[in-house]
Amino acid sequence: MKILVINAGSSSLKYRLFEMENESVLAKGVADRIGIGNSFLKHTGKKEITIDKNLPTHEEAIREVLQVLTDPEYGVIKSADEISAVGHRVVAGGEYFTESALVTDDTREKIRDIIELAPLHMPACLMGIDACRKVMPEVPHVLVFDTSFHSTMPDVAKLYGIDYDDYKELKIRRYGAHGISHQYVSQEAAKIIGRKDFNLIVCHLGNGASLSAVKNGKCVDTSMGFTPLEGLIMGTRSGDIDPSVVQYLTHKKGWDVSQVISYLNKSCGVKGISGVSSDFRDLIASANAGNARAELAIDMFSYRVKKYIGAYAAAMDGVDMIAFTAGIGENTPEVRSRVLDNMEYIGLKYDKELNANCPRGEAVKLSTDDSSVLVYVIPTNEELVIARETLRFAPKK
Ligand code: AMP
Repeated sequence: MKILVINAGSSSLKYRLFEMENESVLAKGVADRIGIGNSFLKHTGKKEITIDKNLPTHEEAIREVLQVLTDPEYGVIKSADEISAVGHRVVAGGEYFTESALVTDDTREKIRDIIELAPLHMPACLMGIDACRKVMPEVPHVLVFDTSFHSTMPDVAKLYGIDYDDYKELKIRRYGAHGISHQYVSQEAAKIIGRKDFNLIVCHLGNGASLSAVKNGKCVDTSMGFTPLEGLIMGTRSGDIDPSVVQYLTHKKGWDVSQVISYLNKSCGVKGISGVSSDFRDLIASANAGNARAELAIDMFSYRVKKYIGAYAAAMDGVDMIAFTAGIGENTPEVRSRVLDNMEYIGLKYDKELNANCPRGEAVKLSTDDSSVLVYVIPTNEELVIARETLRFAPKK
């Protein structure tokens, strides 16, 4: 059975086609610069190809994706009818969705209702869903949420210290994000150690970054909040900040609140601190060349990860495993070492040599055999989780 996974951004539409018999990837690619000119589709299927094509809307983009997927030379299927269901990544599910759901007029309305929980991502996501439904009306479309995995958080972790009636009425609480990745890594970690009853801290460190505390396979806390702005310092997001800074910035810069929030989302984080880049490859190169602000940005990023690990170890009454994942977690030993150094006080010891030369693309154990905390790098696979979730809704043949 073939499942198409879609991840729509404001000007991009990433896709991956799975054969679920063996969970293999048949084809993948991205339609990029949708609606902003010079658009193109980069596809890897039977062969790789980049097609320069005017893609004014997401609808044109998905039509082009189906075109290339069924192309005799580059495609991997004969007809779009071979696709049994389409899974859509959705950043926020609010209080409406604690698990994946079929797209219906009702669930679509609910998504519209919670756009403000992820104002940067949700409008794009809706555009993707609408376009795909229009072009492929016959197949089930499934919503897979980045918040579902965090829906098991207890009140002590998910509520803010605000008036309880405001939480009840306005649903102001912590929802988290990156749950699809946290779920995948938790399941892989459980497979690795052969049981579920352990305390795990997942460090999803990418351009967006978050930690989760996972007890017995269930999320009990996570660092992102009402929106993905809370928590770690990220590529361009500030992470945790005193809300009074918002008011202060409106006075000092003459901005309105939306401008401040946009600033905190897009111009801060390691990009703002370093003045160099949001990309850790650039930051490491710049720090190695002696740029003190790039060094500071890497240190601040890592320090906050370390601080959250301490908090979550305390919250779970101990930690059995720490797992690093996503772009930085998988590929940047300089961050992992800053996080892991000097944690012998909880019995954590790791192989520095192996960390520095960690093989990519596979699960690697970094902790030494005498460490009382396991440390792993576990590559994430969010698309596979979406495909597996979508499969549950696909018509049984
Ligand atoms: P993500 O959002 O998971 O794609 O992660 C993006 C971040 O991961 C960026 O800061 C990249 O610099 C970093 N990253 C991705 N791939 C690599 C790599 N091969 N080496 C070093 N950093 C990487």
